[in-house]
Amino acid sequence: MMRFTERVAIVTGAGSGIGRATALRLAREGARVILADWSEEGLLETAAQMPSEATHIERKLDVSDEDAVKTLVSEVKEQFGQVDILVNNAGISGGSYPPVTENEKADWEKILGVNLVGAMLMIKHVAPLMQERQQGAIVNTASVAGIRSGAGGNPYSASKAGVINLTQTAACDLGGFNIRVNAVCPGLVETGMTKAVFDYARSNEKEHKLGARCELRRYGKPEELAAAICFLASDDASYITGQALPVDGGNTASLNMPGMK
Ligand code: NAD
Ligand code: ADP
Repeated sequence: MMRFTERVAIVTGAGSGIGRATALRLAREGARVILADWSEEGLLETAAQMPSEATHIERKLDVSDEDAVKTLVSEVKEQFGQVDILVNNAGISGGSYPPVTENEKADWEKILGVNLVGAMLMIKHVAPLMQERQQGAIVNTASVAGIRSGAGGNPYSASKAGVINLTQTAACDLGGFNIRVNAVCPGLVETGMTKAVFDYARSNEKEHKLGARCELRRYGKPEELAAAICFLASDDASYITGQALPVDGGNTASLNMPGMK
């Protein structure tokens, strides 16, 4: 399949995990890709894996810094003249949190600043380029944690619930310009973000627990998220907007109640 020939895509968080897998898939299907991440090391690793014939550039970017976002977007406009696809995937979890009675305001500001405000800033500055050409597709990486929360998930879950809501707002604001906005909600996926969880499980003979809450009884791979993101970014999804698609091995299909299995 070559669904993205001649298209220009920006992928944030392209220096690792789901963003890297998405950038590779977009490029393999013909897109010119702007790899954006605040980790230069990650960007270099992704760039080294990109198909040699594909056009790509890598740019260090903090999505929560509006001036930096503006600078990137004007550079992309000058160099490529258009943006067809925006994948808002950069995110941080900050690990697990203490109960809400012990939360730090600074943690909330940091997590919401990157995961939610960062996604909004990218849409704010990229969507005008899409509006000029009356076409575009935006895919945000939310989380199953944005659908339900749990102890220790506070600012991360709240930020991802915000991303789902932002997806609806942006879909409404931009639908009249033929710009679609959707989200994926990953379940547990092995990436940089979840490395500590996987390392802990593996070194404590708890590996079998990693996929235990998914109906498919396994955790996900970044490529499985990339496939869903690329579907939503493609013309195959031409009548889908404002939706948040769980890609979670069935995790959110279950009440996960004791005694139900
Ligand atoms: P990851 O840590 O491997 O990748 C995230 C990337 O985003 C990193 O390269 C990081 O440097 C970059 N990044 C973080 N903050 C940034 C910023 N301010 N500006 C630019 N780049 C920034 O983790 P991942 O799992 O691939 O994460 C991708 C997305 O998937 C995130 O939004 C995450 O919340 C979401 N997600 C992941 C899981 C999972 O189980 N891995 C589950 C649900 C949702
Ligand atoms: P998580 O808690 O989800 O693992 P981190 O806070 O560890 O997320 O950040 C993920 C990545 O972003 C790491 O590679 C880290 O080095 C990088 N990073 C985190 N904070 C900053 C920052 N303020 N500036 C630049 N890079 C950062």
